[in-house]
Amino acid sequence: MRAIVIGAGLGGLSAAAHLRGAGHDVTVIERGALPGGRAGVIERDGFRLDNGPTVLTMPGLLADAFAAAGASMDDFITIKPVDPMYRAVYADGSTLLVRHGREAMANEIERFANRHEADAFLRFCDWLERLYTAELDAFIDANFNSPLDLVKPWRAGLELVRLGGFGRLGRKVASFFDDERLQRIFSFQSMYAGLAPYEALALYAVITYMDSVEGVFVPEGGMHKMASGLADAVEKAGAEIRYNTDVAAIHRASGGRVTGVGLADGTSVEADVVVCNPDLPVAYRELLPDVRPPRAARNGKYSPSCLLWVAGVRGLPPADAAHHNIHFGNDWDASFAALIDDGVRMPDPSILVTLHSLDDRSLAPDGCSSLYVLEPTPNLSGTIDWSRERERITGELRARTAALGYPTDVVVEEIYDPADWERMGMEAGTPFGLAHTFFQTGPFRPNNVNRKVPGLVFTGSSTLPGVGVPMVLISGKLAAERVADYAARR
Ligand SMILES: Cc1cc2nc3c(=O)[nH]c(=O)nc-3n(C[C@H](O)[C@H](O)[C@H](O)COP(=O)(O)OP(=O)(O)OC[C@H]3O[C@@H](n4cnc5c(N)ncnc54)[C@H](O)[C@@H]3O)c2cc1C
Repeated sequence: MRAIVIGAGLGGLSAAAHLRGAGHDVTVIERGALPGGRAGVIERDGFRLDNGPTVLTMPGLLADAFAAAGASMDDFITIKPVDPMYRAVYADGSTLLVRHGREAMANEIERFANRHEADAFLRFCDWLERLYTAELDAFIDANFNSPLDLVKPWRAGLELVRLGGFGRLGRKVASFFDDERLQRIFSFQSMYAGLAPYEALALYAVITYMDSVEGVFVPEGGMHKMASGLADAVEKAGAEIRYNTDVAAIHRASGGRVTGVGLADGTSVEADVVVCNPDLPVAYRELLPDVRPPRAARNGKYSPSCLLWVAGVRGLPPADAAHHNIHFGNDWDASFAALIDDGVRMPDPSILVTLHSLDDRSLAPDGCSSLYVLEPTPNLSGTIDWSRERERITGELRARTAALGYPTDVVVEEIYDPADWERMGMEAGTPFGLAHTFFQTGPFRPNNVNRKVPGLVFTGSSTLPGVGVPMVLISGKLAAERVADYAARR
């Protein structure tokens, strides 16, 4: 079949890889000049600065996408573990290094806290592993046609009940660890799903499994290499990628079936199937204005957003800095309540400082560093007027970064606030999509197909299974499965 993939984000590229591997004739149409979408890069004045994801987990899923295109990931990119995965710095000045490998991490926890907590960590890992095993095939790597599909894999469902997956994440993690600092480092990952640990279901601890147990990795040459490498593999497999080309409409026949796309320059491209990678609510609004979007895309709850400051700076980081540095504020529940419930800035912000050039000197000129500073903020449904507050909030973030000892003598820089994310096509001004509340997950998340538009399939973070690099890579595979079903029915 002739397949068009709108968008060369990681979701679109994964779909293209799987579709090409299945023998379809694939054209990817991307509005930007580069592949990767949110996993972008700025190359300027000798710096190579990632401006999207910094934490790569589950690299096997990336390897699967290359393999689907008949390629070996190792021929395109080299992935290396990041160890320590995180340096967590707490408000009381204590520091925990999150290490690769259970033994190394248990030893670190014994140093940081005591043997009792180290043993708890080993039990926690066993629990996480069982949780992940129960969830992956039955609930994450799965297409859903109705909520009833949730109960079909009943054995996995029962196992989740047994494991306490439907309790609250914060409480579950606290049942393993007495030390509040450890509770924080093993539950903050719920933020990746747009939820506070006290509201997220314990089953979202799979995200903690993905980083704290399976490990954090980075491609040589920076995170964007995931996308440029996969794009190369997809093209080598025979797909065409057209950059700087904006899709303006998805065309349909009178019965609703897709027939191709209309481009912004007024021309059309015909196709039997269209896989759509732009943020799903935006895609419905802009490309399918006469189709009613699913419930969650009409009035869904969106994840918090972030203010991102990416800079190439003169100078080197302090000796104790790690690749990923989380500086926790003092407040915990109050910070999440501010962000998620009240829509205001965290009173005492926790921030992530990533130093890609620490492990990869090719990313910055001699004597210089790459700096990536991220502060979670409310999305645009919050109360901050970014046109007025941007300067002040960015100034505070710069001052905090400098006070923490990082070099901040800027050579090149870019700043992205929620209004920028919205301009870049992300609903509600958040790059983290629809939050993973229970009723926006699995069969309740906007589906990757719409019965009224046969031949249209969605991929990416606001459809199944969800947000983040591992999930959107799976979403591309699930999209290709939908295309196979459609082809079989025609
Ligand atoms: C600052 C930041 C930090 C993050 N941190 C992490 C992290 O550490 N770990 C992690 O796993 N995830 C992280 N994420 C999330 C992760 O990057 C995303 O979930 C994922 O990359 C989204 O991929 P996607 O394919 O769904 O969408 P996108 O990457 O947005 O791809 C959509 C593509 O469609 C194109 N497009 C849109 N409209 C059109 C059109 N009309 N015509 C043609 N093309 C179009 C866009 O240009 C884009 O290339 C982060 C994201 C950001 C921005």
